[in-house]
Order: sequence, then C-alpha cells, then structure tokens
Amino acid sequence: KVNVKDLNKNYGNNHVLKGIDFQVKSNEVVVVIGPSGSGKSTLLRCLNKLEDPSSGSIQIDGVDISDPKVNIDQARENIGMVFQHFNLFANLTVGENITLAPTQLHKKTLEEAQKDARALLETVGLTDKYDALPASLSGGQKQRVAIARALAMNPDIMLFDEPTSALDPEMVGDVLEVMKSLAKDGMTMVVVTHEMGFAKEVADRVVFMADGKVMEEGTPEQMFDDPQNERTKAFLKKVI
Ligand code: ATP
Ligand code: MG
Repeated sequence: KVNVKDLNKNYGNNHVLKGIDFQVKSNEVVVVIGPSGSGKSTLLRCLNKLEDPSSGSIQIDGVDISDPKVNIDQARENIGMVFQHFNLFANLTVGENITLAPTQLHKKTLEEAQKDARALLETVGLTDKYDALPASLSGGQKQRVAIARALAMNPDIMLFDEPTSALDPEMVGDVLEVMKSLAKDGMTMVVVTHEMGFAKEVADRVVFMADGKVMEEGTPEQMFDDPQNERTKAFLKKVI
C-alpha cells in the first residue's frame, strides 16, 4: 500500500531523512517511535506531500506521488491526516467541519455528507455535538472531531502525528479508543506516538527512527521485549 524507497529530505544543509525505506501493507497498523527531531513528522508529511522529498520514491497504492504528473489533490483525498493540533475551523460547527471537504470536493451530496457526519460522530462518541462549535469542546473531543473529519473523505489510509500529545491525560484514553476501533475495523494506519501501551496493543509493526534513519523495526514483542539496536534499547529505557 505504501512503499517508500531511499527517501531523503534536506532542509538546507540539515539532512533530516537519510535513506528511509518504509512499507505499510493494507490493513496494517504501523507505529513509528523515536526521539524528538528524528524525522518522524517529516516522514509523515512526505507521505501526503506536505513536504517534497529531496530524493527517493514514495508509492501509495502503486502511484508514485513524487511524479510531478500525479494529481496530488486526488492522491491526498485518499490519505487522512490527524495532527497534534486539531486545526478545526473555529467558525464552523462540528457538523460543518466534517461535511466541508466531501461536499466542496464533490465527493458527496450535502445530504449524504450530513448523514455520514452524524454516523461518524457516533463512531467517535460525540453524537450530540453535531451543532456545537469547536470552542465549546474539550481537547479530546476536538481531536475526535478531527478524526471524524478525516474519515469523512473515506481515506484508504490514516496518518496520525502524535494525536494525543497535546491532550490532558484524562482525554488521551478516549482518543486512543477511537483509534483502536479504527484499527480493529481494518483501517490502514501509520501512527507516530509516544503511547507505548497503544503501540504494544494495536501495532502490527513498530518502527524505531533516530537521526533520520529507520534503526530497527519489528513486531511489538520483538521491539519491546527484545530490541537489538543499542539506540532502540536506550530510547525504550527512557520512555517505558
Ligand atoms: P518530534 O518528536 O519533536 O515531533 P520529529 O521526529 O517529528 O520530532 P521532525 O519534526 O520530523 O522530527 O524534524 C526532524 C528535523 O527536521 C529536525 O531537526 C527539525 O529541526 C527539522 N525540520 C523539520 N521541519 C523543518 C522545516 N520546515 N524547516 C527546517 N527544518 C525542519
Ligand atoms: Mg514530530
């Protein structure tokens, strides 16, 4: 589904991604961990072309998105992204936030989009918030709306960049629960997170990045119980 080969990214002379090979299969949940500055966000941002790679190839569903001929808007429609900061439109209601993209991009009629939005709000446990404004929601509720909004485009894959790290601790569980149930329903997911419990429970594969490289990857059991790389060991000692 996702096939990244020898991806390099430079910011000026800061070589941020150094030959990343990274694959995600259909229905797979890949959790990316690693220290601050290791390039996790940059990798995710390259996957939906918020950043242009300096070199290397990124195939998503067989389409090389680094090819300038590719219609990136179309490619991006199939990739849902959820960030640390939810970036909801403050002047729109929850319902409008969720229906905006699918209606504007003519993916759904308004009626369909509204019906789907209500169903999605039920999925994320916010049935009664359809007409609420984002300002009236807690951080965890906003993040669940952001997830619903991303899902409204019926993406093939969801990218999460530290979706819970800006939340008060008591909000984290609700958001992780929503992500867990998405995973259970077979969504293909790439999740950057410091929630090691989530990684252990939900990940099919854990990828450890440091210094712009994939240092080690494996099943949660391999990575948490028997890490091979010294950097992985040192990182896990700090975070667990
Ligand atoms: P964190 O855990 O803190 O979110 P990260 O692993 O997501 O870290 P990135 O945000 O990908 O790390 O950053 C990797 C490196 O790239 C850092 O050295 C950062 O300073 C640099 N960097 C990221 N974005 C930019 C940018 N837009 N311009 C210049 N340098 C950048
Ligand atoms: Mg980051």
